[in-house]
Amino acid sequence: MDEDPTINVALVIERTGAEGPGERFALWVQGCPMRCKGCCNPEMLPFVERDRQRASALAERAIAQQQHGVEGVSLLGGEPFAHADGLSVFAERVRVAGLSVMIYTGYTLEALRERRDPAVDALLAATDLLVDGQYVREQHSTARRWIGSDNQRMHFLTGRYHQDDPRFYESNTVEFRMKNGQITINGWPVHGARTRLSTRGEK
Ligand code: SF4
Repeated sequence: MDEDPTINVALVIERTGAEGPGERFALWVQGCPMRCKGCCNPEMLPFVERDRQRASALAERAIAQQQHGVEGVSLLGGEPFAHADGLSVFAERVRVAGLSVMIYTGYTLEALRERRDPAVDALLAATDLLVDGQYVREQHSTARRWIGSDNQRMHFLTGRYHQDDPRFYESNTVEFRMKNGQITINGWPVHGARTRLSTRGEK
């Protein structure tokens, strides 16, 4: 096994308050095997080469953000567990440095465990918070922060976070950024990120 695998990166936002509790380093991967109707990130579904980066280099970038108040990383996509080889190494490294790990996945936790894939197991073992299940447009909901449809669940896989944390009951957040003439929107209701001026396929 490659000790420092690459990750096919679709987007990185080094500091965001819209993708989980607190300030977070958010990493979107390129490629998802699912095709949920209403997926907000259709450009991140094909398994095409985008920006391959070493897990160690990405981890160093995330860890460096701790000095700016970042408390954890959020992994989105795309489908993070379709990139478990690289993301498990990344997640293990950032956790050793004290960052928490939150993942948004289209798989259920049970389906991930049934796969008995060492990389998937390693990524799960390094996860504090997991939002699981495909986005189902007919069950769309804004009732729970960071969750898009009623079928999706939030799992507290470690003691790092607790259900009574008041941040889980605050309003959802959307962020807009402009850089090099492009606008990036992330957070709810987008629950992902885009680099275009208009939005489409909203949840
Ligand atoms: S909503 Fe998530 S799981 Fe579903 S197609 Fe989009 S990226 Fe994949």
